[in-house]
Amino acid sequence: MSADIIDGKAFAANLRSRVADLVPAFRAAAGRAPGLAVVLVGEDPASQVYVRSKHKATIEAGMESFEHRLPETATQDELLALVRQLNADDSVDGILVQLPLPNGIDENLVISTIDPDKDVDGFHVTNAGRLAVGQHGYVPCTPLGCLMLLRDRLGNLSGLDAVVIGRSNIVGKPMAQLLLAESCTVTIAHSRTKDLPAVVRRADIVVAAVGRAEMVKADWIKPGATVIDVGINRVPGAEPGKTKLVGDVDYAGAAEIAGAITPVPGGVGPMTIAVLLRNTLVAAHHRAGVALAADAI
Ligand code: NAD
Repeated sequence: MSADIIDGKAFAANLRSRVADLVPAFRAAAGRAPGLAVVLVGEDPASQVYVRSKHKATIEAGMESFEHRLPETATQDELLALVRQLNADDSVDGILVQLPLPNGIDENLVISTIDPDKDVDGFHVTNAGRLAVGQHGYVPCTPLGCLMLLRDRLGNLSGLDAVVIGRSNIVGKPMAQLLLAESCTVTIAHSRTKDLPAVVRRADIVVAAVGRAEMVKADWIKPGATVIDVGINRVPGAEPGKTKLVGDVDYAGAAEIAGAITPVPGGVGPMTIAVLLRNTLVAAHHRAGVALAADAI
């Protein structure tokens, strides 16, 4: 058997264009565009690439993009003052502080200073709590993107056995909460889990968010299962000196057994920015008191 490939790139492009289609009506109702502020501290090359992509995607969706760059030497107080200024700015619906932050800046303090109703990354404890108790809030973009791919593939997830490998605050834990809210039977596996292959073999849905290249082997996968690979790992490529990206799942092997699987790259990766735009659009409607149909996006 050969698995269907879940095309996250195409799904994300479609989501971005659905967001863009909803922007003009918001502009007409609110008299302004939805606005996303992205804060970058320091010169981390990967973070610079992410911030550039977010800026480009925001503009392409017809939204306002506010970029704030602080030097590596910026103090925690300077960053907190900027976050407070963005909290108070009515044209800003979403605030994203690009992580990681330079040494000496307390990430938790910075995140907890963001207005939870502008926290489109969904990292504030208020939003983690809202997700846990099923209230309206903002859900971290990567796991919400995974859920969208799963719903698109499987429809109703109720009663399915889901195994999430990884328990980070930004992927594993919110992913587990989202699947629980869909009435899956959820197992969270992690570095201390006993007999991980046996745990994964029970799963109708496997979400791997570990950060270890091709750790999940083909013979761990239940035939027909849906496999979502969040991992992004850089490994040596075929040519000397070249590298390539692989996921946390042995893709070639698992694709022989799974019912459907996300590739790396081109699976979960492109969903993150698309969901960020979606969260910003939702935040804009919420903040401006403009109605957005529950099934609109
Ligand atoms: P993390 O390092 O915070 O968490 C990794 C988790 O994996 C931990 O909870 C740990 O318990 C678990 N783990 C470690 N070793 C394990 C083992 N041997 N067996 C089982 N579990 C083990 O990582 P993260 O931030 O959650 O990210 C995970 C992966 O997802 C990384 O590769 C990251 O690059 C990728 N990621 C991708 C996107 C995206 O596609 N946009 C976004 C976020 C993270």
